Amino acid sequence: MRRGIKPQDRINLNKNGRFYFDWAASAPFLLNRLCTLKDLDRPGFFGNPSSGHSEGRAARAALEEARRVCMEALGADEGTIYFTSGATEANAIILFSMLYGHAGGVKQGLITTAAEHPSITKNRAPLEYMGIPVHCISVDGYGAAVPGALEKALRKYTDATMLALMYVNNETGAISDLSSLVKTARKRDGKALHIHSDMVQALGKIPFTLRDMDIDSAAFSAHKVGGPRGIGVLYLRKPVQVLCKGGGQEGDIRPGTENTLGACHFAEAIRFRTETQIKAHEEATANMACLIEALRGMKRCTIIPECRQAVDERYSPYILQAAFKDIPGEVMVRALDDLGFAVSTGSACSTGSKKRPVLNAIGIDDALAFTAIRISFGWTTKIDDINALVGAVHRILSQF
Ligand code: PLP
Repeated sequence: MRRGIKPQDRINLNKNGRFYFDWAASAPFLLNRLCTLKDLDRPGFFGNPSSGHSEGRAARAALEEARRVCMEALGADEGTIYFTSGATEANAIILFSMLYGHAGGVKQGLITTAAEHPSITKNRAPLEYMGIPVHCISVDGYGAAVPGALEKALRKYTDATMLALMYVNNETGAISDLSSLVKTARKRDGKALHIHSDMVQALGKIPFTLRDMDIDSAAFSAHKVGGPRGIGVLYLRKPVQVLCKGGGQEGDIRPGTENTLGACHFAEAIRFRTETQIKAHEEATANMACLIEALRGMKRCTIIPECRQAVDERYSPYILQAAFKDIPGEVMVRALDDLGFAVSTGSACSTGSKKRPVLNAIGIDDALAFTAIRISFGWTTKIDDINALVGAVHRILSQF
């Protein structure tokens, strides 16, 4: 039973009175990088990028400069960057592009995993409803898709025309071996298969160069790297048919008046985060090692999955899933919140659902999953913050 944690129980509060450990849901704004209201007063910035007058051309120039910055930061080629309203939309554009082929009589099929973000998994039902078969391959105990399972699935499901596999899992931090998975997929039918990856949790954290990855499309989100909410990027290197039509903006891949301001902010955030990611990764690795060591020392804590080591290259050093015996995850979230710490019980997009499909997909039973929380950090997380969190968890465990 919880014995009432009062605000005065808070320990070593930082200067804001809060410790933020939910960066995988959304990162704090990179305020020094984003433009101020005064900057918005740039001549013409308010114009519609599709207008032919000076104001429109000024907005177009700003938008194209943002695109160029994103392209360089992602290591992508010219003509492959499309701004969207976020990663959810970028994923949906790709998944639903299959409906065109299907309606035209070309057999379509999707291969994916049950450990993807809801913006992929929840679209399985509408795709199936519309007649497109979805085949889920299993992930291994580490939490990532494995080439063996993919190879088998590709052999069995000859109708598969698309593969959707995430790079870094948003709940466990598991990093998939995308390069081996892509090689396996290409062995079957060369370039014909469309390979899509949700790379949201890799951006600015795990270095990559898109042009070397041989994938056809990828989804990114600004608010995970300190940019604004409601803007994302779809990387797309080969043409697809999209469902939503409009004024033809963004090469008709994502029509609608462009979010110039969001794109400019995203570009600044992406540039800064990718430039500083190596150093940040080292610091995050050291912090994660300390956190895992400390949690392993607590009898009632289970690291998920248990095979995860203190320093383990198979996982993002920014995301950890851990369960605390006899304390439901939601209760732990509230108890930590009372003490000044923000953590979560998994994807923010699944809040309210008691189910933890991603954990089930890696073989975690419902009872353990029910007591699991996600701790995620970012570039301002310091070792003192980790120590404070460990102290808070100790305190809560002693009270339940
Ligand atoms: N994919 C992953 C892996 C995520 O973590 C998120 C955010 O929670 C999304 C997609 C959705 O991104 P957005 O909020 O930009 O739609």
